[in-house]
Amino acid sequence: MTTQGIPSPGDGLRLHLNENTGGCSDRVLAAVHALTATDLATYPDYRRVVGACAAHFGVDQDWVLLTNGLDEGIFVTSVACFARAHDASLEAIVPVPAFDPYLTSATAVGARIVRVPPGPDFAFPLEGVLSTITPKTRLVFLNTPNNPTGQTISREALRQIIEAASHATVVIDEAYVEFADGSFLDELPRYRNVVVGRTFSKAYGLAGMRIGCLIAHPETLEPIRTSTPVLNINIVAAAALQAAVSDAAFLPRYAAQVTASRQRLYDASRRFGIECWPSAANFVLVRVGERAPEVVAALAAQGVHVRDRSKDAYSPGCIRITAGVVAHTDAAISALEAAVASGVVTVRGGDK
Ligand SMILES: *Cc1c(COP(=O)(O)O)cnc(C)c1O
Repeated sequence: MTTQGIPSPGDGLRLHLNENTGGCSDRVLAAVHALTATDLATYPDYRRVVGACAAHFGVDQDWVLLTNGLDEGIFVTSVACFARAHDASLEAIVPVPAFDPYLTSATAVGARIVRVPPGPDFAFPLEGVLSTITPKTRLVFLNTPNNPTGQTISREALRQIIEAASHATVVIDEAYVEFADGSFLDELPRYRNVVVGRTFSKAYGLAGMRIGCLIAHPETLEPIRTSTPVLNINIVAAAALQAAVSDAAFLPRYAAQVTASRQRLYDASRRFGIECWPSAANFVLVRVGERAPEVVAALAAQGVHVRDRSKDAYSPGCIRITAGVVAHTDAAISALEAAVASGVVTVRGGDK
């Protein structure tokens, strides 16, 4: 079952959308409860929340555009790059396997999509991306750590692409950067063609609130800002975001759970003879073989929902498992072990 294209499995442990499996900060709940009837009757004023968000990222306020989830940020960036151009030959470059909204958003606004496949073991295709950059390139989507592979793109590779695509907009989607080392934000002032995307859906546990942001030089942001509905963030999400960024203890606690969970998934995969790839994000991609949809169904029957990535030509035989609270990961590992025992998983016999 899906709602608006997103899998909606029903009850059970949700390890299929990389949500924070422990929920959001208590400070967020308190801030939401504190809203009054008058607050909800009022059009939002974003000055304070933008200020808090800018301070959080260490940039000036005019470098920040709040969006209704980073999904909206991806969409409005696509609009700014293509919609007014009225030229169906302009291109968006998407290294694959990729987060679907890059493809759907760029397609919706009339871009030609240029897919760049990964190297062995999902290595980032630097040469492939560089060789597809042409005068037709308007937008390049880079995602580090990548969803669904968990792999990162090196600083040097990012710089080379940004420089080679200086006539285009380069989006660096850092949706999972809180689980990895180092954001590109510290280099952002050097580039006018780069937009960094962040979300509060994953590490901060605010997926239901729909809040993300774009960060870029004000001139870079201007055409995107004018393509964005002016009151796109509701007042509840704005209050939630302010509270979330005020809770400095929340993130390190959750990141430690994620690190431990990733390690458990690697160890279990090795034990079961399943291939998996080291991840810098809050999920691990594992290859369960040709019967991946049956594996997903077998896990769901045990109340554990994981993401079937096997229909994507660039991640054949793979499922993606969210690595959140350790107890949740352990439940997923037990379910996977039962699936392995039932013979539905293709195993390779022995340790890697
Ligand atoms: C989850 C995700 C996002 C954004 O999610 P929102 O909930 O819309 O903020 C963006 N990019 C990637 C790669 C993601 O996985």
